[in-house]
Amino acid sequence: MEHTAERVVLARLPSGVEIATTVHTYDGAADGPTVYVQAAQHGREINGTEALRRVHDRLLDADLAGRVVAVPVADPLTFDRVSYTTPEQLDSVNPNMNRVWPGDLDGTLHERMAATLWEHVADADAVLDLHTGSADMLTHVVFMEGHAESRALAEAFGTDLLLSEEAGEDADPEWAARDFGGKLRVAATREGIPTITPELAHNKRLAEDAIEAGVTGTLNALRHLGLLDGEPEPNGVRSSGGPALARNHLGRVSAVDSGLFRADPDREVGERVEAGERVGTLYDPTTYEVRQVVETDRAGVLYSLTREATVTAGEKLLSVALPREE
Ligand SMILES: [Zn+2]
Repeated sequence: MEHTAERVVLARLPSGVEIATTVHTYDGAADGPTVYVQAAQHGREINGTEALRRVHDRLLDADLAGRVVAVPVADPLTFDRVSYTTPEQLDSVNPNMNRVWPGDLDGTLHERMAATLWEHVADADAVLDLHTGSADMLTHVVFMEGHAESRALAEAFGTDLLLSEEAGEDADPEWAARDFGGKLRVAATREGIPTITPELAHNKRLAEDAIEAGVTGTLNALRHLGLLDGEPEPNGVRSSGGPALARNHLGRVSAVDSGLFRADPDREVGERVEAGERVGTLYDPTTYEVRQVVETDRAGVLYSLTREATVTAGEKLLSVALPREE
């Protein structure tokens, strides 16, 4: 196994300061597939970065067949700001890096950064794009509906919930309106590269459960693809039954007004819910008047629930995934 770490310039700021990141390459003694894995293209989503540091330690001692290319900080701009998007001074056209893939070397800052990393993506036989949720979120893996190899990769990664997301003309009109075609996962899958987006839960702080799910899942993906020996290991907290397969329907329950949202104390992400179940209340903090009794919009798995209680009208409060019957 041979490891190299290369500093790569992704773009240049107006002052001339270079935006650079480190690309790690692990070349196995034996031949095998190439896997590209990155974290923190949303810079506040740091649990993937810590997971890759631990994967690094494991790979240095491993018998690897093939090549792993790992980028622990894909977007230094948002990483430094502990943010999800850049301020308008840096990229007013494309503030969200995960809407511009495969990027453009002559485009805006995010398009240039993505295009530089895309050179590694295009060479890969599989791609893992590590994210973490902003709300309290059940750790899960997203793959493109109908892409069997991506689904197999998601199953190997593990976690208790696998979400398939429809793309393009199959998807809800909101999908295109939100530029979801520019997600790394979608752009790479459309090139025929099996790709998954693990959502490891909890941003801005290192959460041990989420990090370990990321480490086990990444190593599981490498086992599944034959870069490492052995079978994928269990990677969920459910005692039995394997992962639940569900559909990411883009639906969500939003705040009908601004105020403080209090989730009912017995609510937890990961639980099965029926449609119309009460989950919490939104109230006016000055008068205590209840503005919304917040209820689930459908039956399924409650996988996201906001805990940042100060909400503005229209903000997402919870999401329920639709179980798939197969
Ligand atoms: Zn993200």
